[in-house]
Parts: sequence; structure tokens; C-alpha cells
Amino acid sequence: MRLHFCGVRGSVPATGSEFAEVGGNTSCVALSHDGARPSLVLDAGTGIRRLGSILGAEPFDGTILLGHLHWDHTMGLPFFAAGDRPDARVRLLLPEQGADAGTLLAQAMSPPHFPIAPDGLCGDWTFATIDEGRHRIEEFDVLVREIPHKGGRTFGFRIADDAGATIAYLSDHAPQRHGWGPGGIGAYHDAAVELTTGADILIHDAHYRLDELPARASHGHSAADYAAALGRQVGVRQVMLFHHDPARTDTEVGDLLEEVRSRYPDIAIDVATESTVIDI
Ligand SMILES: [Zn+2]
Ligand SMILES: [Zn+2]
Repeated sequence: MRLHFCGVRGSVPATGSEFAEVGGNTSCVALSHDGARPSLVLDAGTGIRRLGSILGAEPFDGTILLGHLHWDHTMGLPFFAAGDRPDARVRLLLPEQGADAGTLLAQAMSPPHFPIAPDGLCGDWTFATIDEGRHRIEEFDVLVREIPHKGGRTFGFRIADDAGATIAYLSDHAPQRHGWGPGGIGAYHDAAVELTTGADILIHDAHYRLDELPARASHGHSAADYAAALGRQVGVRQVMLFHHDPARTDTEVGDLLEEVRSRYPDIAIDVATESTVIDI
């Protein structure tokens, strides 16, 4: 399995030289297997535009899996040129929440909010909902579980290829909504444990520094320390800090990484940046 981090920022894009190293595009991670082109894309933040350079001249042929529908996870969709062309095939899946998938997307993407609705995209697009459980998507095994966030149903994913390489993706996660847990930074609730146990890579919300969490705990995100603590608790091989606060500069992200590493020296922790590619 190869992971391409195309967008790693949370909430809203960040521009400027002080954010360039980590990258300013919002959430998008593309997965490929067996040396093929990426066929499964997690979230469609502005980072999805960068998938075009990985695909080269080829159209996208695969599935976009949305963990939830907040702007920072959907706003790249109509700017995904490799999917918005006549020879593209795009299956878009979003969390079941009692309404038709296309109608849900169109609430944010249609006039007068945006020039076109989802059915205005070129190519063979289909829109459907997905619910909790085990699914087979683009030759990956995908476990879907609902996780606490804020404002709309949010899913975390555990994804494995046929060789057994496994990642967990919890981009927007507020475990404190299930209690503060043994470490005082969020509960190790059942869905989080099931999604992450023994994974090779944990891609996790790292929006806050530890000292920011008390005042912002109601905003729907976690402290970077929780990602490390959960990863250690469940035996993850490597934690990738993700969904960085849009105000956090490269220097500050680096400082945060060193702080977390110092508190969790017994687990591999790194920062997901837009240039990060991982082979598992
Ligand atoms: Zn987000
Ligand atoms: Zn969100």
C-alpha cells in the first residue's frame, strides 16, 4: 500500500511561506496498492487538486470516501480536474444520515453557494451513502465506525490491503465527548480502539496543543497528545499527526511534534505533510 498525503491541514487552507513546508491544503489522502495509480481517496479537501500531479495525464478511476461533510473535507471536489473530465469514473461515498447522497452534497455545492451542483461534474460520477460495518472498496477492506466530532455524522476508517498492510484514519475526532479518559485528554472509546488496534499507520487529528485543549474541547477536535497516547495504547506502529490547525506555522508544528515525542518516547510519531509518501 502506498499513502500519498495530498492535504494535511484542518478547517481552512493556510497560505504563506510560514506554512509551506507542512502544506496548506485541507484534508485528502490517496491510497494505491500493487504499484497501481491511487484508486481510493479519503476526503476531498483542497488537497485533492494535488492528486492530479500523481495521476499525470490519466483520469481518476476509483472511489472518494468522505469521513464527513464539513467544508474542509469537500471543498476540493469541484476543483478535482482528474475527476472532472469525460473519461473519469468517480464513485463518491459519504456517511448515511437519512438523505440522498447527491442531495446532501448539493446543500453546500449548488447555486447560489457554488456555480454548479454535483451532477454538473463531467465524467461517470455516482453518489451513494455508506454506513458502519465492513466493506470492500477498490480492492481494499474498509471498516467504518462512527466517531465523535461535531455537527453531522462523522466516520473513522480502518483500511487494509490484501497483503495485510493496515492504516487507520481519524481525521476529525473529539474523544473527550466520550469522557476525559485515563490520561485526561480523551477516552479510548470502543470505536477508536476497534479502528486503530495494531494498525501500521494511524493518521489522526492533531489540531491542538495540550494547553489549548481545555478552552477548545467543544470544537470537535483532539490534542496531538491523544493521537500518540491512543497509538501507544493500541499498539500502532507509527502515528502521523494530521489535520493541523490552519494558524500553526511550520516552526510551531515542528515544536509540537518535539513536545509530543518527548512525552511519548516509546512510539514512532511524525508529522504528515503534503510531501509525505509512505509505503507499507
Ligand atoms: Zn476537518
Ligand atoms: Zn470536521
